Amino acid sequence: MRQSSDTSDSLGKAALRAIPPGLHFVSTPIGAARDITLRALDVLTGADVLVAEDTRTLKRLLEIHGIALGGRPLIAYHDHSGAAQMQRLLGLLAEGKSLAYASEAGTPLISDPGFELARAAVAAGLPISAAPGPCAAVCALTVSGLPSDRFLFAGFAPSAKAARRSFLADLAGVQATLILYESPKRLAALLEDLAAILGGSRQAAVCREMTKRFEEILRGTLAKLASDVAARDIKGEIVVLVDRSPPAEATSESVEAALDEALQTMSVKDAASFVSQTLKVSRKIAYQIALDRNQGQG
Ligand code: SAM
Repeated sequence: MRQSSDTSDSLGKAALRAIPPGLHFVSTPIGAARDITLRALDVLTGADVLVAEDTRTLKRLLEIHGIALGGRPLIAYHDHSGAAQMQRLLGLLAEGKSLAYASEAGTPLISDPGFELARAAVAAGLPISAAPGPCAAVCALTVSGLPSDRFLFAGFAPSAKAARRSFLADLAGVQATLILYESPKRLAALLEDLAAILGGSRQAAVCREMTKRFEEILRGTLAKLASDVAARDIKGEIVVLVDRSPPAEATSESVEAALDEALQTMSVKDAASFVSQTLKVSRKIAYQIALDRNQGQG
């Protein structure tokens, strides 16, 4: 267990703490280099072994923050590195070493490598922890202006048109803000398909180059964003967010079914109030139907 003392002057007492044995996933900046937590720097300073999706990117980050590699191994690993490389890392963990894993940018495992390693470490009963931090999906949700109470991160949509359309059709009814990553060269096609499949009137946002010099957030309906983006040459890294689907129109059958279910556990008054709120129907009408159905059941 290595003491993280190399940068103790700049990082203070916290950096002197030893990093416990185990696999530590470290989130790194998605743009601005200073978007890294003090604990992430502690882990990178003190871990026995550094592991990275791209060793050059991690070396650059260490240089920016004045962290010396100091003779420690720096191992390249991604989810397709193969069984031998995975066994090597698991072996080091089994010996009681502390490993810091960083992906290219942001949070490992989020459209980035790390899942297979995490799963193998958990299966082997080895300790695993995270130094959380930047993640483009969460950053975009924060600034999108779209509901944040419930969201679904869908990663990258398939690049082939037919597969992308069927992927989006599966998401069309989801009652949550949708979050997708996309490359600039496929953004126009994605927005066109989103508008066609989810409906052009849904509110959406395109978050580009967040935390960087040319950060830009476009907001509007899918139809407007699709036509605006088609007319521009968009560059940089992009997250697309789409508001949830509007609730289905209530029908007399759906109101009756909801009331029958609610009446199993609620009084007539509470069932009517609950159904009127959830299905957005008049409380008076819901109460009358609930009364009739309750009498019919009794
Ligand atoms: N692990 C990363 C995370 O936690 O967000 C995501 C890695 S994924 C390979 C890269 C994608 O994330 C980009 O194609 C883009 O969709 C999104 N992304 C990353 N940085 C971004 C930024 N600064 N602004 C907008 N989108 C970004």
